[in-house]
Amino acid sequence: MFRSLHMKLMLILLLLITSLMAVVGAFLTISVSSFYINSFYEQMNTVFGENGRDFVSDLRAAAAEENGADRIVEILDAKTGPLGIDHRTRNYFLLDGATGAYLSGSAEESEFPREQSVNLLAARNAVARQDSTAVGDESDITADFMDVAIPIFSGDHAYIIYILDNKATVTGLNGQLFLIIMQALVIGLLISVLLSFLLSKTMVGPIEKLTAGAERVAAGDFDSELPVESTDEIGILTGTFNEMSGVLQATLAAVENERNKLDTLFFHMTDGVVAFDHKGRLIHCNPAADTMLQRPVDSRCTYEELFGEVYPFRELMSLQRPNFAESELTVGDRNLELYLAPFSDKASGGVLIVLHDITEQHRNENRRKEFVANVSHELRTPLTNVRSYAETLLDAGDDIPRETASSFLDIIITETDRMTHIVQDLLTLSRLDAGDAELVLSRFPFGDAIESVVRANALNAKQRGHVLAYTPPESLPLIVGDRSRLEQVMMNIIGNAVKYTPDGGVITVTAGAEQDAVWMEVSDNGIGIPDKDKERIFDRFYRVDKARSRESGGTGLGLSIAREIVQRHQGAIGLVAHDGPGTTIRLTLPVGGPEI
Ligand code: ADP
Repeated sequence: MFRSLHMKLMLILLLLITSLMAVVGAFLTISVSSFYINSFYEQMNTVFGENGRDFVSDLRAAAAEENGADRIVEILDAKTGPLGIDHRTRNYFLLDGATGAYLSGSAEESEFPREQSVNLLAARNAVARQDSTAVGDESDITADFMDVAIPIFSGDHAYIIYILDNKATVTGLNGQLFLIIMQALVIGLLISVLLSFLLSKTMVGPIEKLTAGAERVAAGDFDSELPVESTDEIGILTGTFNEMSGVLQATLAAVENERNKLDTLFFHMTDGVVAFDHKGRLIHCNPAADTMLQRPVDSRCTYEELFGEVYPFRELMSLQRPNFAESELTVGDRNLELYLAPFSDKASGGVLIVLHDITEQHRNENRRKEFVANVSHELRTPLTNVRSYAETLLDAGDDIPRETASSFLDIIITETDRMTHIVQDLLTLSRLDAGDAELVLSRFPFGDAIESVVRANALNAKQRGHVLAYTPPESLPLIVGDRSRLEQVMMNIIGNAVKYTPDGGVITVTAGAEQDAVWMEVSDNGIGIPDKDKERIFDRFYRVDKARSRESGGTGLGLSIAREIVQRHQGAIGLVAHDGPGTTIRLTLPVGGPEI
């Protein structure tokens, strides 16, 4: 309740008014009492002091008489005015100097106090000492009376004039004062309550508005600017607050923009990114990392679970930036390269892991190694043959029969041809790979090209006892392409059918057109291709049966060259699934040629 500024303000004002009134009241009461006491003793001094020497002499003279007491009373009665005797609050008493007993007075004996005051005792002592100058006029502001005792003696007669004021006047006055102060206090309190309301309206109101504005800004609402209603400190504060919230909004917008950029980058980058906090709990994981790790990665995943075996978390956290660790991880059939680094030295930091898929890189590297091994192997075999036959011929000299020598030379020539063939094929492939082998495009009849290739194979097929049949369709369109390279492809497909079909086989060539494409299919009833090899026959140097292929002069490069050429024409080449033995290969080409 007292935490609000309004209540605090009111409390301060109430305390201020109350304490002010208390001080003023106390001051006034004391002042009034002191004034009253002072004026009492001044009055007494005027009557009995230096100035009232004649009066005191009269009293002493009266005291010397036989009926001294009556005389003194007479004199005192005549002096009631200057003495302020009013018989109510102030009275005089004539006492016996020796005993202090009541003799007479302006009031009855019953009014005389039983207990004798300090002043009275002092006067009695003075009487005892025969000291007429000592007067009991000690005053005490706290006492509820004030008095003065004057010893009067002449010869054996001694009296004490005792004047007693019961302070009824001053008490009444103080009571009145107290009442006035109380009334003033109540009015003062009411005014302070009103003032506190007024102050809170002028001071607390703007502060409350500022607080509400700050709360809105804290909740992210920067749109409403606070009105500056005054030029005082609160006005300046409101202005500064508006400026501050403007700067904050601009900064937040910039941060948000940066974050959006990073989010987009993070979301679309092909490398995987995973972040963990300092306790190894997952904070972020982008879709690429999800795919690479081949499992759904959510907030329950921990570093230990995902990468604990790759690199110890503690060691990683203790790395000093910009140091980082590298490692590799195999997930299923994928090879991942990992870069692990702590992203902050503080306790609130964590680690960031970038995953890079190097499966393709590995595969290419393996393919390259395999290719080099294949080339070396393919060339070494004919070279070894050539060398051994040449050495034999050399060693034998003239001893070798002529027929044997010429059969040896035949083998050497065949092996040399083989090597030339391999080197030519490799050259063609490397040109196709490098993009050097420009296609020489022309428009030509697709059917004519097939017919010429079938014709070129006819003799070979006939020698093997095959039936090579081609029934051209009614019409085949003209197509755009590199005729000689496409004929090389057809040659390879039909040649393979002739090669890999045992003697006396049936080879059927069909062709057709559909929408914007033409196709050619070559089916044979030969040895076929086992399922496990179907995927790979278009790979370089891949041969199902190496010995058979070598026998028939194959290099294992024909179909890979064919695929490269067809792909450059944006066509397709592949095996067609069919029932029964043999192989069917289909070639499809776009009528309009490759789109550049
Ligand atoms: P090659 O020069 O050895 O014929 P290709 O690249 O032309 O090389 O063919 C690759 C392999 O595919 C061949 O070695 C062969 O094993 C297989 N092949 C291709 N065509 C046929 C077919 N019609 N019948 C059976 N096997 C075939």
